[in-house]
Amino acid sequence: MKEEGNIKDFQKKFLDCNDKFDTIFELTSAASKIIAADLTIIKVNGALEELLGYEASEIEGTKIMEYACEEYKEHWHKLQSELWSNQVPFFKLQACLYRKDRKVIWVNVTSILFKDEGQIYGFTVLDDVTGLKHLQESESRLNMALKYSKLAVWELDLKSKLISRSASHDELFGYPDKQEDWTLDSYIQHVLDEDLPRFRAAINEASQGNKMDQQVRLKTTDGTIKWVNFQASPEQDETGRPVKILGTIADITKDKLHERHKDDFISIASHELKTPVTSLKASLQLLSRLMEEMSDRARAMVVQANKSVNKITVLVDDLLNASKSYKEQLQLKKTVFNLYKVVDECCVQLSFQSSHETILDGNQDLEVNADAERIERVIINLLTNAIKYGPDSNKIHIHVGQTATMAKVSVTDRGIGIAPEKIPVLFDRYYQAEQVKDHYSGLGLGLFISAEIVKKHGGDIGVDSIQGKGSTFWFTIPIT
Ligand code: ADP
Repeated sequence: MKEEGNIKDFQKKFLDCNDKFDTIFELTSAASKIIAADLTIIKVNGALEELLGYEASEIEGTKIMEYACEEYKEHWHKLQSELWSNQVPFFKLQACLYRKDRKVIWVNVTSILFKDEGQIYGFTVLDDVTGLKHLQESESRLNMALKYSKLAVWELDLKSKLISRSASHDELFGYPDKQEDWTLDSYIQHVLDEDLPRFRAAINEASQGNKMDQQVRLKTTDGTIKWVNFQASPEQDETGRPVKILGTIADITKDKLHERHKDDFISIASHELKTPVTSLKASLQLLSRLMEEMSDRARAMVVQANKSVNKITVLVDDLLNASKSYKEQLQLKKTVFNLYKVVDECCVQLSFQSSHETILDGNQDLEVNADAERIERVIINLLTNAIKYGPDSNKIHIHVGQTATMAKVSVTDRGIGIAPEKIPVLFDRYYQAEQVKDHYSGLGLGLFISAEIVKKHGGDIGVDSIQGKGSTFWFTIPIT
């Protein structure tokens, strides 16, 4: 009697278990199927119906291979055979399947065998990894694009100090394979000593929430030197505290080389031009002495020729001064001179070329220790611009002032003015505001050269401007 009761208990437990399995099988979000020994599908759950887009009745009785992409069939079939011949306890593989709507989906397949009432069945779970697969594909496409554009992506975790990076990042530094770990020290090892202070300062700035845009030279593992541009933005947590720095590194060695070639070309061309222009100028000056003996027409032509040759001289000088080699060599010849007088002389010089009225005021006794010729160059440039970019206003106001240690010259015009967003790039090489390109001639070098000269003196240059109303360009230089 007891034994019979035990069997009943066991049967009940077994049926309970079976019920539980059925419920889990039906409710799980993992697409699952049960197959018989001849590999036909005998039971599928709702998740598998959804995954393949068929009704259960359409799938049951078929074989999974009928849905598999051709290239996976052979391997999958082999794994199934090994499972059923008990060579392996289970198998896993990744494969693709066609849905009813012919869309391709990617699945991770796991199969095991189980026994039920003396029969052996196969139980398979198909895990949909299509999204992941697309992500992997787009990541590998992105890595490919980054590789070909010689761009690397980096992300510094400010807490752990570890840097995660794109696939080809380490190659940029000369490593054929991806290194295990990468930290700020890894960058520091490669950045040239001369550029290290700038690099460290830029990283510091970025760690405090500022953007980074820094060009530095790297020494790669094989000793070659590369120019790269580090650009990055900080990422903040909810409290606004920077937690990550995310950015790119671009290999700009080629650009730098082109820049150098361009500089060399400009430098050579302007040097070559300088000699004939100087002799042309000398000849014209000699010719000017004979003006009294000339007809009115010839005289006018000599005056015009003089004006043009002066313009050419300024352009050639600008080109020469803008080349890097000149910038590197910029040596100041300092003397003590009266700044007001020099400004006055510049105004007189320009009064011959333009009908603009110059009004000069300020400290007439201010003496500075500076390179007079170069400071004159800066003043002439600011005055010429005031005339050029204020064609409809006829007054230019110049003020010579001072603070405790610095002399300050300001040139104010009532001309076209400058848009606020253009001001930060105004002193860059070859910069010309969009609106002026078509209307005013120039190379966009004058302000760049002026800024170089002023900076070399230890001073500062800037502008206050209202678009459509006019501008005040100013510069400061130390008095002694
Ligand atoms: P260039 O005059 O040869 O173009 P500069 O370097 O002297 O070169 O000036 C750069 C640009 O700055 C000019 O193209 C112009 O757009 C702007 N700029 C300079 N001075 C003035 C000014 N006084 N008023 C308005 N815009 C100016």
